Amino acid sequence: MKFCPNCHLSYDDSANVCGQCGGPLQMIPQQFRQQPQVAYDSADHTAEFSAQDISDNKVFAMLPYLMSFIGVIVALLAAPSSPYTMFHVRQGLKISVTSILVTIVGMIIPFLGWFAAGVCAIILLVVQIICFFRVCKGEAKEPPIIKNLSFLK
Ligand SMILES: [Zn+2]
Repeated sequence: MKFCPNCHLSYDDSANVCGQCGGPLQMIPQQFRQQPQVAYDSADHTAEFSAQDISDNKVFAMLPYLMSFIGVIVALLAAPSSPYTMFHVRQGLKISVTSILVTIVGMIIPFLGWFAAGVCAIILLVVQIICFFRVCKGEAKEPPIIKNLSFLK
């Protein structure tokens, strides 16, 4: 890529003079060229699992989001050799543990705690629904909000 130092217009490598002012063009150094922006999502682990694993074990991977601890146990028993299921078991456990902590806080602190616990319960429910639909699509992403709770890692 080349550019005109006068007009700040960019041109192909094949161009020799600026179409605007007719002046000479300069090469743009490699480090200033626009890199193609690849959206990289560090919470997206879908690529780490095989398509076979995902399609075979989707049903079990959904369970931790649908039935909390019972789903975790069923998934552990049903598909212990499936890395995809185990990923979602871990995420489901994080959500379940968070909801227990929220419930405890809600019980300890009157009024404000009840309100906060209620709001958190709704947020956690939404997170679970999002995670459930991601499993339906065969994805393996860490749950929103929950992934930022560092004490669960
Ligand atoms: Zn120019």
